Amino acid sequence: MGLTDFELALRIGVFLGVFAALASWEQLAPARQLKLARAQRWGANLGLALVSTLVVRVLVPGSAIAVAMVAADEGWGLFNRLQAPAWLAFLGAVVLLDLIVYLQHVLFHSVPLLSRLHAVHHADPDFDLTTGIRFHPIEIVLSVLIKLAAVAVLGAPVAAVLAFEVVLNATAMFNHANVSLPAWLEPWVRRFLVTPDMHRVHHSVIEAERNSNYGFCLSLWDRLLGTYTPAPRGELDIGLADWRDRRIIATLPGTLGMPFR
Ligand SMILES: [Zn+2]
Ligand SMILES: [Zn+2]
Repeated sequence: MGLTDFELALRIGVFLGVFAALASWEQLAPARQLKLARAQRWGANLGLALVSTLVVRVLVPGSAIAVAMVAADEGWGLFNRLQAPAWLAFLGAVVLLDLIVYLQHVLFHSVPLLSRLHAVHHADPDFDLTTGIRFHPIEIVLSVLIKLAAVAVLGAPVAAVLAFEVVLNATAMFNHANVSLPAWLEPWVRRFLVTPDMHRVHHSVIEAERNSNYGFCLSLWDRLLGTYTPAPRGELDIGLADWRDRRIIATLPGTLGMPFR
């Protein structure tokens, strides 16, 4: 089995395992009552994820893993230039890739054209694990291009890229899950990782709350860079005030057309 086959098998395996575990948890102990039926939103959210995957396959030649391999062979990028020890390059690359994802998320909130694309993620009137994979395909293509450039500039090791992609995919579903960790455990996990209670604030209809808690994996960046909101001020309402039409926000054609309306 080549690395590409292994990568694909690992990604699909982790995705399905984490998805099944979180969906069962949401079913057994949901944190909030959903406004819309799961079936309706899931069609749109899973449909977007599928279209994004296909569009990336067609439009983006190569993968982050392939870029990491070329960078290692050619000696490109920070960690290859420094000839850093393997453990340092691995750890450094994973942490810095997470910082880049944080900064990219801030960018998608601050540049008007990009925020039109990112609004598709926020227009979900509910918040569950499928919200974590609900993005407009153009946003996904841009994120992939940013990631390829980041891997080349960092000279990220192949193992770090593989670990990061698998972990980010799992944490994105986890921190959107309609669940709450037990009260005694939540503050401890939140010191290191973004929890569902922390990221849910980012989906508030209140703009000030939405422009905070940008992290997807490590909770460190929001604390360090002053964008941390520990809890919503009042009763949390999820979604975007300007986008409430279910035929747009809860269907695949509607969400695909949203940025152009
Ligand atoms: Zn956002
Ligand atoms: Zn989100």
